[in-house]
Amino acid sequence: MNPSTAHPPEHPPDLPLSVWRRSAWVEIDCAQLRRNFEIIHAQKPPALRLLAVVKDNAYGHGAAEVARAALASGAWGLGVTTLDEAVELRTLGIEAPILLLGERTPDELPACLAHRLRLSVGEMRVLRRLARLARHTDREVPVHLKIDTGMSRYGVRWDEAADAVKTAAAIRGIRLEGLMSHFAMSDEADKSFALEQLARFEQVLGKLADSGGPPLVRHFCNTGGFLDLPQAWFDMVRLGILPLGVYPSKTCRRLPGLKPVMSVKARIVSVRDLQPGDHYGYGLRYRATSPRRIAVVPVGYGDGFPRLRNEGCVLVHRRRAPLIGSVAMDAMAVDVTDIPEAQLFDDVVLMGQDGAEEITANEIAAWKHSVCYDVLSGWRSRLPRVCVQKQVPP
Ligand SMILES: *Cc1c(COP(=O)(O)O)cnc(C)c1O
Repeated sequence: MNPSTAHPPEHPPDLPLSVWRRSAWVEIDCAQLRRNFEIIHAQKPPALRLLAVVKDNAYGHGAAEVARAALASGAWGLGVTTLDEAVELRTLGIEAPILLLGERTPDELPACLAHRLRLSVGEMRVLRRLARLARHTDREVPVHLKIDTGMSRYGVRWDEAADAVKTAAAIRGIRLEGLMSHFAMSDEADKSFALEQLARFEQVLGKLADSGGPPLVRHFCNTGGFLDLPQAWFDMVRLGILPLGVYPSKTCRRLPGLKPVMSVKARIVSVRDLQPGDHYGYGLRYRATSPRRIAVVPVGYGDGFPRLRNEGCVLVHRRRAPLIGSVAMDAMAVDVTDIPEAQLFDDVVLMGQDGAEEITANEIAAWKHSVCYDVLSGWRSRLPRVCVQKQVPP
């Protein structure tokens, strides 16, 4: 380490001072977020509605930013899972339709009414309870009935669904607005189960064809379905991960221009030289066998980084620096012997692009034995979020 050359970098103009002072942060490229929504809208017929799914703080990206970008792009409404998530959006002044995707317990229903939320319901008991409450107010609650076509999680089983739909449509106090189902596997190359689910859904729709009543908003697709199963688009698609620029699998269709919105960055806070035989970190999981130069990055599993051991990497000066030893709660170390430019206080990229190199959410997911959804939403709130507007490359 040579402290005389170590000096904090200039304050980048696109980072608020509060974040600049932090040594690790999550960057949200708000311009790319808007471009992603534009690209998605250009890929679908104008009449196909978009429900922007912003549950779990928009997979860690910030529900407010993503919700606003979605609505500005022309999304019909927002989807969330918990009542708190919905109330937070209403508190921000967002008046657009909000569809609650998870199931509700009876205690939650009065607040759902008070905040003018739309409910997706799979339990007839909840439906009746909701209707009873609604009849005491002067407005009907819009409901989307869930049909279980094979996921076996929520909803009325497809072979009983046509009767349930007729019953639901006749209950006073609720307004049956939509019919929905959900794919158990839509983003893999093997679409056979997805097609089976789709056939079951169509069977239900077929039985309802001549039952009259106002047309229902039919929706089935998440990102995988939207990309690969246009025959399942119906009237609306529910997209969570796609507007964030991340693909749920290697095999699903790619949209030109779509790019990840989130990057995770940090600053090197210690640079040291190890002698042969020196160890690094807890559990003595790393031992240098030759002279090594290492850089310590102040991010650990307490920030949502996977607890790896001698596996994985971060980007330092556009190159991959391998992780050494085990990731601790607050810190990890990388080998920068082959990156002599690496200095104290330099920026590193834990997730995202640096020059030609990129560490994707899917790559981290493989290290974590998990999925990219878990990686995105797994970055903890300990890392401040900052919105940046990167220039579009010419
Ligand atoms: C989370 C969720 C989605 C969004 O899925 P993506 O694959 O992120 O697009 C859609 N529908 C339901 C019911 C969900 O819970």
